Amino acid sequence: MTDYRVRSMWLDGVPGELTPRPSLSGPTDVDVVIVGAGFTGLWTAYYLKKADPHLRIAVLEREIAGFGASGRNGGWCHTTFPGSRELAEKTHGRQAVIDQQRALHQTVYEIRRVVQEEGIDARFSLGGQLDLALTPVQLLRARAAIEYERSWGFGEDDYVLLSASEIRERVKVAGCLGATYTPHGAALDPARTARGLAEVVDKLGVPIYERTPVTRLEPHVAATPFGDVRADVVVRATEAFTPELPGHERDVVPIYSLMIGTEPLPKAFWDEVGWSGREVFGDYRFLIFYAMHTEDDRIALGGRGAPYHYGSKLSEDYERVPAVQDRLKALLGELFPSIGEFEVTHRWGGAVAAARDWYTSVGLDRATGMAWAGAYVGDGVSTTNFAARTLRDLILGQETELTGLPWVNHRSKQWEPEPLRWIGVNAALTAMGSADDAELKTGRPSKRATYVKRMIGA
Ligand SMILES: Cc1cc2nc3c(=O)[nH]c(=O)nc-3n(C[C@H](O)[C@H](O)[C@H](O)COP(=O)(O)OP(=O)(O)OC[C@H]3O[C@@H](n4cnc5c(N)ncnc54)[C@H](O)[C@@H]3O)c2cc1C
Repeated sequence: MTDYRVRSMWLDGVPGELTPRPSLSGPTDVDVVIVGAGFTGLWTAYYLKKADPHLRIAVLEREIAGFGASGRNGGWCHTTFPGSRELAEKTHGRQAVIDQQRALHQTVYEIRRVVQEEGIDARFSLGGQLDLALTPVQLLRARAAIEYERSWGFGEDDYVLLSASEIRERVKVAGCLGATYTPHGAALDPARTARGLAEVVDKLGVPIYERTPVTRLEPHVAATPFGDVRADVVVRATEAFTPELPGHERDVVPIYSLMIGTEPLPKAFWDEVGWSGREVFGDYRFLIFYAMHTEDDRIALGGRGAPYHYGSKLSEDYERVPAVQDRLKALLGELFPSIGEFEVTHRWGGAVAAARDWYTSVGLDRATGMAWAGAYVGDGVSTTNFAARTLRDLILGQETELTGLPWVNHRSKQWEPEPLRWIGVNAALTAMGSADDAELKTGRPSKRATYVKRMIGA
């Protein structure tokens, strides 16, 4: 029996059994087949069935609901949109870009509404998002970020610069010089959210066939070892696993993000550092970290730094990289010197997916019936919900305020074949890390990471 609990602290904490639901029993016809039972697939099933209870929908999942990034992530339900606003402005105009960002802001509140209404134990806490400035260079970047948001018309209700003392009132992080803050951000327990949502979808009458791998996608068909599922619309919701599907090898690259989780920390620690608002926070370095305070008083901390694997290969072995996860543990000591001795009870990881132009997209090709959503990089917790409501409108053939936004039907070009892909992605990841080191050493902004971002088109 596969032990799904070892794949993340969140899956480990889900109450009850993680016994797979029954697999598909044979060939079948439906209106919509959804491949992948992560947030994208589950939210899509949820909104479609709510909108039209007569629709025949099936979800096909190779493992169990929440097995992928949705059951393993940092629990940041936030509103960073991967993709250049300037690029989108060229094709869709300025107002559409602003509308898209505002719709993503609203998504955080939409998720709160649904988890409350449906009784999902998401452990949702609307504390906002802090991006800290831990060095003078990062402070410059924080100020520039606020100016940038103002240039797009976002005001103090959306993004604000906080002083070092204002941060200390929220959370005492060593050496913090200031931060940007947005109220549009929340912390949640991703596996409880995904598993709870799967139960809701189930109860609505949408079967989720688990342990059902899709081996091939064709117009109006999802092929499995148990038979083909024929449908008007086939939704590909496979994110970082997409390159494993024939014909989709170069759609996205999987990039590993790794995490640690501490034991529940003592009251004395929390009395010292505060953080009672459970804001999610990171800082302005290039190779990011992301921290969150769990409802049961642990800290979950994640970061990049793991290599990209040749041929976009995925493996459970890549989810634990001692050098990266030890560095994360040391980082906790730097952020919170009063933490003292503590145990890291969980180490895990998963892959995020990036498109060649780093632009997230959602769409439907009416001619083939193929729909997709993804390439969220590390920002899919809220964006999957936004994508699902957009897919609902596209599939139902309704023109709404969502269906005209810039990311809809955006096509990213394919990644390069190997070995160029391996060389390029790893060079970019290394350059990000060394840009951070160089900044720490010189105290001056590094041009290297900006250059890398431009090179990959991000
Ligand atoms: C470690 C980590 C930390 C992250 N932190 C954050 C964060 O804090 N905030 C944030 O916004 N985002 C974060 N992300 C990204 C976020 O988790 C993802 O963008 C989001 O969960 C994607 O959801 P999804 O449903 O599209 O993909 P997934 O959750 O990966 O679901 C895809 C599903 O498809 C199934 N599948 C794949 N191939 C097949 C097949 N051939 N047949 C059948 N089923 C298949 C998989 O088993 C899986 O269950 C993080 C990701 C990782 C890995």
